[in-house]
Amino acid sequence: GTMSAKEPIILLEKVSKYYGAKDSDDTTRVLSEVDLEVYEDESMAIIGPSGSGKSTLLNIMGALDTASEGSVCIADQYLNKASENELAEFRRRTVGFIFQSHHLLPQLSVLENVLVPLLAEPKPKGMPEAEERGRNLLKRVGLDHRLNHKPGQLSGGEKQRVAVVRALIHKPRILLADEPTGALDRKSSENLGQLLMELNHE
Ligand code: ADP
Ligand code: MG
Repeated sequence: GTMSAKEPIILLEKVSKYYGAKDSDDTTRVLSEVDLEVYEDESMAIIGPSGSGKSTLLNIMGALDTASEGSVCIADQYLNKASENELAEFRRRTVGFIFQSHHLLPQLSVLENVLVPLLAEPKPKGMPEAEERGRNLLKRVGLDHRLNHKPGQLSGGEKQRVAVVRALIHKPRILLADEPTGALDRKSSENLGQLLMELNHE
């Protein structure tokens, strides 16, 4: 192919995060001038001990938190310059989030749970298509026989797969996962890791 330079989908430049007044005795410095480039199709893991700032970094990339200093550009959008409306739109469309604890709603079925993010739409439209997409994704992760089950009837690994589908229902360009296998046994953990790699590839 041609040698056109591709822009990174995630570009962090000298991103710092601290709590308290800068350079004072009680400043808690969590991130210090972090540079990061991630390109479309890439999968990346951020590894470090508890308290080293992994969640803080992910939350900044997902616009759930803000950097104290530095530039955060995700999918061509400079988050430090975006308005509240633009940030809300960004959270709804550009990123999907998976957490260590699945946060599924216990009273809803599996299929209803994966459609929950669509309720945040200002004007919900295309619900039949979304439901079809939800069914297809649940099939893709091996849960087509669990559509009408409640989360309480599923194993830990199955619940996390539902959470993955819920995070993908909007076709986000970026999937951010904060210790998504942290509560799973080793086998389920490996399966989920494998699934995430495959989905990104697809
Ligand atoms: P990790 O996900 O790697 O375990 P976190 O990003 O959750 O790390 O936390 C990084 C550091 O930020 C921790 O030392 C934590 O104490 C600190 N921290 C988080 N929130 C606050 C806050 N509101 N005020 C002061 N320090 C905080
Ligand atoms: Mg964390």
